[in-house]
Amino acid sequence: MPRVALVCMPWASVRRGSLALGILKRVLRRCGLASDTHYLNVRLAGRMHAGLYESISNVTLLGDWLFAQHLFGAFGSGELANSLADITRAEGRGILAVLDQLPADADAIVRNILPAFLDDCLDSISWGEYDIAGFTSTFVQHTASLLLARRIKARWPAIRIVMGGSNLAGPMGRETLRAFPWIDIVLDGEGDEIFPRLVRRLRSGQPLHDLPGVSVRDADGLHMAAGPAPLAAFDQVPIPDFSDFFDELERRGLRDRVRPRLLYEGARGCWWGEKSPCTFCSQNGQAMPFRAKAPRRLRREMRAQARRHDCFDFEAVDNVLDPRQLRELMPRLARDRHDFKLIYDLRTTLTRRQVALLRAAGVRSVEAGIESLHDGVLRLMRKGTTALQNVQMLKWCAEEGIAVTWHLLYGIPGERPEFYPETLACARRLTHLQPPLKAGRVFMQRFSPYFQNPSRWDIRHIHPQRLYRYVYPPEQVRLDELAFHFEWDWPGRLSDEPGLVAPLQDLVADWRAAYRDRQVCFSWRRGPGSVELLDNRPLDGPWRIDEPRRTVLKGLPAVVWEACAEARTVRTVAAAAAAAGVRPDTPDAVGRALDDLVRRDLMMASRGKYLSLALPWDRPL
Ligand code: SF4
Repeated sequence: MPRVALVCMPWASVRRGSLALGILKRVLRRCGLASDTHYLNVRLAGRMHAGLYESISNVTLLGDWLFAQHLFGAFGSGELANSLADITRAEGRGILAVLDQLPADADAIVRNILPAFLDDCLDSISWGEYDIAGFTSTFVQHTASLLLARRIKARWPAIRIVMGGSNLAGPMGRETLRAFPWIDIVLDGEGDEIFPRLVRRLRSGQPLHDLPGVSVRDADGLHMAAGPAPLAAFDQVPIPDFSDFFDELERRGLRDRVRPRLLYEGARGCWWGEKSPCTFCSQNGQAMPFRAKAPRRLRREMRAQARRHDCFDFEAVDNVLDPRQLRELMPRLARDRHDFKLIYDLRTTLTRRQVALLRAAGVRSVEAGIESLHDGVLRLMRKGTTALQNVQMLKWCAEEGIAVTWHLLYGIPGERPEFYPETLACARRLTHLQPPLKAGRVFMQRFSPYFQNPSRWDIRHIHPQRLYRYVYPPEQVRLDELAFHFEWDWPGRLSDEPGLVAPLQDLVADWRAAYRDRQVCFSWRRGPGSVELLDNRPLDGPWRIDEPRRTVLKGLPAVVWEACAEARTVRTVAAAAAAAGVRPDTPDAVGRALDDLVRRDLMMASRGKYLSLALPWDRPL
């Protein structure tokens, strides 16, 4: 009986098994269909420095360019004639910075490592045992998948090549099928239910045209799907099977070196985006409806996976944390007292208590949708959050010892010049907290509101990012259809004004450098009737970190300081002062005390609320 090969190509991270393939393997087994998952990304990482592999996997299109040299470049069909020097000349910025960090010469990867890797992929796997090869393609996996698929097809023409994954959504999948004749079928949308039906029909010789989400090439030509596959019944999705991934890591001696994580999926879609998607969000509208697993089931799955793979590090793929997980899963995980380590994406609308609960449950790292420190920018992005909430999240995560990954975006359609210095002023007060990964222009990706409805923001000149021309021959591939990342413009764009952007970039660079050694401090401690603050944030002028300045607050200022550990209105602070037995001299004394602390850069105020910025002196490092 033939089997199905499920293939995960470079440059998928080797720190995680493929959730999609793990689920498909289980779904196929449930239907009595045998399959094997080939983690060929792990094999490539085993042939090079794993750190180098991961660096490449994180860069948009760089890994695609490396394989494109064997697909369309000098070592392939030759339609593309370009070199790394061409890219660096054309790009100048982003990719150059990454290439500079690579511990190996990228040309050496193309010339020496990839040919041997590709030969191994073909020769060491018994492809003749398979009638279907299914490739998952997300992020930087497309050209590697196309290349191996072409070589398999050339040697074993009877194998049907199927591609699915986020790189195949909508026009990108249809263009992949049209432009690359060795691809037989493209699956758009969730494959959990459609893929087994597809396999059965292929084997029984039934037509595929009416399968939703399935585009197919046959003797009559191309039959393109009208839309994606319908959303799968999420509560029926099985626990993913990662055994092939862990086995491959062991075989390549990478199990202990890469410290893998178990991906888990508590929810699909986004409950915020259902109402009002963030303007840059590339979540495909069709996949936006929020669906979540029962917390009880999720906990069972996590424990089963941890037991099975002796792995206690988890990473949620959820776009946004399900409120039910907060209420039901996190308290249970906290009570279990396993030393699980969890990574989550979340919005910054959580309370102090909820952040503490995340920590108790094992969350050690979050990707927080912060994006800006300016209420005007956040409104333009339709984030539905405030600058104060974002700062609060940074502060509470620091207090709990949770690492935060975040970005500071600018260049938002509709922005005003004053947003830049105002953002800078805010950021300068936060340099004792975790810095952004980078400050950069907001991006345009396919499916985002900016992309789907550009006239609304007067957005013009949308075209695929330049790097695509170095990866795919423009004469053969319609890049407008295939691309996911785009360049764009609109009248009055401010993000190219060096006078506005450079100070922000410089600050983030200094902030990041100082944070590595925890050089900046702003902490507070409570004494009898007073609080003491120690502070060496470089608030004005050139970046310089001095010895900490000491400030002591007594009486009303001390009380309002403590009351604003969470963002508070004047009224609630006044109530806290009364409860503490402190009687202000005048009705407006509380407001004046708060405004004075803001003026001294000790607090931040926005939209009628005040927040103390310092961290407790004894927080975990
Ligand atoms: S960016 Fe995140 S929070 Fe915003 S709509 Fe997209 S998934 Fe939801």
